[in-house]
Amino acid sequence: MKIAVPKETKPFERRVALTPDVVKSLQKAGFTCLIETGAGEASYFSDEKYHDAGAGIAPTAQAAFADADVILKVNAPTEEDVAAMKEGSIVISYLYAYTIPEVVAALNKKKITAFSMDAVPRISRAQKMDALSSQANLAGYKAVILGANALGKIFPLLMTAAGTITPARTLVFGVGVAGLQAIATAKRLGAVVEATDVRAETKEQVESLGGRFLQVEGAEGVKVEGGYAKEVSADYLEKQQALIKDRIKEADLAITTALVIGKKAPVLITEDMVKSMKTGSVIVDMAVESGGNCELSEFGKTVVKHGVTIIGEANMPSLLPVNASELYAKNISTLLLHLATKDGFKWEMEEEITQGSLITHNGELVHGFTKEILA
Ligand code: NAD
Repeated sequence: MKIAVPKETKPFERRVALTPDVVKSLQKAGFTCLIETGAGEASYFSDEKYHDAGAGIAPTAQAAFADADVILKVNAPTEEDVAAMKEGSIVISYLYAYTIPEVVAALNKKKITAFSMDAVPRISRAQKMDALSSQANLAGYKAVILGANALGKIFPLLMTAAGTITPARTLVFGVGVAGLQAIATAKRLGAVVEATDVRAETKEQVESLGGRFLQVEGAEGVKVEGGYAKEVSADYLEKQQALIKDRIKEADLAITTALVIGKKAPVLITEDMVKSMKTGSVIVDMAVESGGNCELSEFGKTVVKHGVTIIGEANMPSLLPVNASELYAKNISTLLLHLATKDGFKWEMEEEITQGSLITHNGELVHGFTKEILA
């Protein structure tokens, strides 16, 4: 089976879908890999390394796609990409298919089967394929590093002859994979950490990392489906904001990671709250791509408002392109090997990971959740 990997074209993207090491293992397993020239450049993997791993190098994405059975990408293909793909071929990438109905239509028109990395079920058996987790983990780390760098203070307690420096205070919103890594990283740097989430079970996780959990009264009532938080009620948000209002005044660094799948991110830090923060404090809004958890954050920009630096970095995992590509390549190749052998796809349509990640097939949108949103 022939695999093609193009250079990513989305702004702010530095990752690549396969690394030379993973190419080597796929070649060994009987697959043939064709990589667009320069695909790994932004993550420091040269054409030469891919060549040494056994891959062919294509001059353009179109040339790579022309004869490919499977296309592996980081971001969703564009309509132009789809036009260059073979009818009936297979594409695996992040799709967030509910956000790109026109690409879904183009895929269906050419009967291209698409599997989405963001739709891989969050079950133990699929952990090795879970790119949402691998990338969020790196992003949570980087968010703290960016925040620490923008802060005019150090994180740890420091006792010196010239006086004692008290530890920085970090407030983390959303205790999923990114939030947990942010808590762990901030703790390792010596900060005092507080965190909040709508899922009550995260209290124990926060405490196990040495953080303090901010419990919103009525948290038990929040619905969780497949581990994901559902949108909370206006009443809950109000109570949560009252609690946060109090704590955010003390924070030096706030990191927000709160997401609700298929919805705009909840606004957790209002302009009034920003005004109440200490001058020189920092907010890193990791939800900025989904609309932002802070009312004042701007996508892809760092802005200073009311004396607070607000970082709206567009693609946090891409700031660590080496590790992010390494982990993503492991995730996507594991999914490929789950779905296919070198001789072709298995098409086990009832199998949970196949069914969960399959978006388009035989000219139809088949993914329940995406259909629901696009209906
Ligand atoms: P996510 O990125 O979808 O959301 C980040 C966090 O924001 C979540 O913890 C969510 O509860 C929280 N949130 C949403 N609305 C909020 C609000 N108004 N205020 C505060 N917090 C809010 O989450 P994720 O990191 O992708 O993890 C989602 C779930 O999947 C978690 O339950 C996680 O434990 C689970 N998971 C399971 C596996 C597995 O079993 N293989 C792997 C990874 C994650």
